[in-house]
Amino acid sequence: MAPRIIPRKEHNISRKHINPHALRTLYRLRDEGFIAYLVGGCVRDLLLKRTPKDFDIATNATPGQIKRLFRNCRLIGRRFRLAHLHFKDEILEVSTFRADGPAEAGEEEGQPEAGEGKGAVVGHPRRLKDDNGVVLRDNLFGTPEEDALRRDFTINALAYDIADFTVIDYSTGLRDLRERIIRPIGDPVVRFTEDPVRMLRAVRFAASHDFVIEPAAWEAIRLLAPTISRSSPARLYEEVLKLFLLGSAGRVLGPLAESGLLAILFPDLGRWLAADELHRRRIQTNLEGLDERRQGGTPPTPSLLLAALLGPSLEEAALADHREGIPFQQALDRACGAALKALGGTVTIPARIDDRMRRIIAMQQALRRRPPRRPAALSGRREFAEALDYLCMTATPGEGQAAREWWAAFLAGAQPETIAGTAADDAPTGRAATRRKRGKRRRPRRRKVAVAAAAPGEDAG
Ligand code: ATP
Ligand code: MG
Repeated sequence: MAPRIIPRKEHNISRKHINPHALRTLYRLRDEGFIAYLVGGCVRDLLLKRTPKDFDIATNATPGQIKRLFRNCRLIGRRFRLAHLHFKDEILEVSTFRADGPAEAGEEEGQPEAGEGKGAVVGHPRRLKDDNGVVLRDNLFGTPEEDALRRDFTINALAYDIADFTVIDYSTGLRDLRERIIRPIGDPVVRFTEDPVRMLRAVRFAASHDFVIEPAAWEAIRLLAPTISRSSPARLYEEVLKLFLLGSAGRVLGPLAESGLLAILFPDLGRWLAADELHRRRIQTNLEGLDERRQGGTPPTPSLLLAALLGPSLEEAALADHREGIPFQQALDRACGAALKALGGTVTIPARIDDRMRRIIAMQQALRRRPPRRPAALSGRREFAEALDYLCMTATPGEGQAAREWWAAFLAGAQPETIAGTAADDAPTGRAATRRKRGKRRRPRRRKVAVAAAAPGEDAG
């Protein structure tokens, strides 16, 4: 199919909106006689007048040629070599046009590949699929068209050509962008089988961009949802962070549950949500809380996300055990341990994130106590900001709201004994009280305004 080429005056991508490093890199490649395109999500987002997350470049220069052109270049990837250009505050990805098969994101990010070790390998050595049809490696250079058509969705396959500032559409990306449709390139069943993570990407883009997943693709997702477990657990963890931490978590839960993907990714949570509509509403509220935090300039951390998702069911399980006589913290620890172990086969939660999530949940009792014991010491703990976020997120007028107000007053600088709800005999005890007597009380550590702009994959501290 001949590509559709949209001249500069018929589209809205202005060089003003292109990242200056990316623009200079494109010019340099062009001036050396190479084809140089902006590709992928940045073209989609520029056309939609959204700010792109990253600017990816595709070219017919080989990795070796790119390396010779740019001093700040490092080649990464064992199988498909990819160039990273390092700038002071960012890394730009420049890849050589590539044929057929998926961009195995896991591979590019230095993670295990989908399906690795999960089945016998069949096919051409340069284009391997396992016996489930999952593509394991592909390292063939290709034409610009092949490079576009190997991509996941039509709206992600658009290119911006620096040679004449045109937009190139090899599929139906522009139409789908106008009609706000997520449409896989080619047969959805084949494309989701090659790389099941694309199903999560479809749900994510539909939520973040307010698009509709095309009916055949939605059917394919419902059919293939169980196969998501063939992707590597580390990669699925990264995808889960992208699903929930980028500002549209509230719109993700519904489709994730309805598609059947949630029940595979988080089986215990899936069952708990299905058991009671109230459960679903609680998690929905938590997820909307994460989005509000992001909008308010304090992006939620991975551990806060996990607490938001799993905390309520874990607290409930712990409480049930507690009623049977097990100390609450011990019961909570047991519930967390069991949940994380059950999860491990599908989604790997890094140990430090798991640990932090447990601390957030474990701290709730202390935060909800009115008045809290030793608030200065509590507020000095590393996980305090996230634990308070969780409290605020889950508070209802019946539970937690008063504690939330207490902490707000405390953090605004009020002396604990003057805050409503603090009885005289409940004044701080222990070290904090002793310090006060000596007149050396540490000022309570203020809640950090930005709980670190944690990108997916990172924790705040
Ligand atoms: P975001 O705004 O989240 O960065 P994006 O579309 O840029 O969205 P990336 O993960 O940055 O997504 O990937 C860049 C491009 O690489 C995509 O637009 C798509 O063309 C291609 N791509 C990424 N992952 C896959 C995949 N699993 N299968 C096929 N193509 C993919
Ligand atoms: Mg991107």
